[in-house]
Amino acid sequence: MVDKCGPLRAKIAWNFINKPHSLLSRSLLAKYGNQIWDGVYRCNASTTWRLLRDGARHLRPLLRWRISSGNAIDTINDKWFLDLNICRWPTYVAELDDATKFVSGFIKDRSWDVVKLKQFFGIDLVDAICSVPIHLEEDKMDLIYKCSGKSISALVWEKSFEDLEDVQIWSRFKKLKLRPRVELFWWRLGLNAIPSNHFLMHRKLSDISSCPRGCISVEDKDHVAVKCIKISTLLDCLSKWGCYLPMFTNFDDCIDSLLKLAVSNPFVGNLYCSVVFLCWKGRNKVFHGGSDDSPLYIAANAFSYAVATFPCNLILENWDANQLCKLSQYSWRPPPPGWVKANVDVTLATSNKACIGGVFRDSKGRFLYAFGRGFLHWDGAQAEVLSVLAVGDFIQEWMLEAEGLIVECDNYNVIKVFKGFLNKEIDKEGVLNSKDLDFLDHFKQFCFSFSFRECNRLVDFCANLALNSDFIWDDIGSNNVPPSFVSLLKEECSCN
Ligand SMILES: [Zn+2]
Repeated sequence: MVDKCGPLRAKIAWNFINKPHSLLSRSLLAKYGNQIWDGVYRCNASTTWRLLRDGARHLRPLLRWRISSGNAIDTINDKWFLDLNICRWPTYVAELDDATKFVSGFIKDRSWDVVKLKQFFGIDLVDAICSVPIHLEEDKMDLIYKCSGKSISALVWEKSFEDLEDVQIWSRFKKLKLRPRVELFWWRLGLNAIPSNHFLMHRKLSDISSCPRGCISVEDKDHVAVKCIKISTLLDCLSKWGCYLPMFTNFDDCIDSLLKLAVSNPFVGNLYCSVVFLCWKGRNKVFHGGSDDSPLYIAANAFSYAVATFPCNLILENWDANQLCKLSQYSWRPPPPGWVKANVDVTLATSNKACIGGVFRDSKGRFLYAFGRGFLHWDGAQAEVLSVLAVGDFIQEWMLEAEGLIVECDNYNVIKVFKGFLNKEIDKEGVLNSKDLDFLDHFKQFCFSFSFRECNRLVDFCANLALNSDFIWDDIGSNNVPPSFVSLLKEECSCN
């Protein structure tokens, strides 16, 4: 419930600021001074002064300082530049000292002290600050948005309602069970705090407002969440896999529909949010001179995000009827249609014999190929790295026809090393050679993923079996394949 008194009291505070010569203002100024924002609150203050203070609290988000001497304006915490205080800007500022704590520290002879500004702010920000006019009268508060045709009370009412609506929206968004990073991204997008080109231009930090991918339109939140050409390509790609995601007209429509999906079909809502998040990550690579992620890569990753999030036996209305129904976090997860997934695992015996087990399966969980191989090693984690690399030795020519390859193991740190290698991060421990992963170049797409140990039981079985002797199976019907392997395979792939 929005408090109705606050907006009405805001009007009194506004009159106090703008009509200092009225009888009421003069009496209050004489008794309490003009510290309605930060002054010490006296418990024995008059009712009028208390009402005024409450009104000022509600009014403050709508005001910014008009600079004159700058003595009263806190450089970091007050709004004096565009419509935000600097502490809420996505920018770096050097630590301020006592002299620059107030804006007056940057003003010399009634103009901006450029040398001083450059010591604390970036060049673009300095240019933007220098365009702020310095007035002759004393520092005073001014409305951020003018000519709205609305009364002060109406503006404050709208603002408090906006904030309340935001809180309600984001609490309902939780039902989509987004990954923390995806949720943070959407929250920032909703607050218009994503450094899109439109945002940077609005903040006077860029001259271009269009999408770096070459879409001929302004890159605002509508574009990032709904209108980018890349998003349509991704939706096409997912629809070919049988996952039909809704199309939206703009950001507000998108949020409305996502909130409905949060109740009716959170899987689809989660998938859409992940698609937009990964699309933004790809866009950042383009922005910084790299190459964009391919639609298949983004779609596969978004799909794996969404599938991994929903723990119960979820039957996907939008998903192929023959797909696995058992999409639990603790069961093996199928790759997207047309892809091959290789799971690997390692067993280390006390004799320093390490054994790798690996199983290749398709999107319906069908057996394609399996192997087990022993070698000497002392360190479980390094042996896990070798197990991922071993996949390269068992790639069959027909596998290269697949849409892509996913290699999965249950050691999170090992998967992190491989992902970091693909992203060209520095491999501090020197675990990998660039040539080690050459085999992946033969695939159209590839990625590495982490699975819980409980989802990797089949390969654990293979690794243990390899303690006796190495093996390769390419036919599930062969006599060499033990019945226990077949029943475990069935168990990991069956609906229950
Ligand atoms: Zn675009």
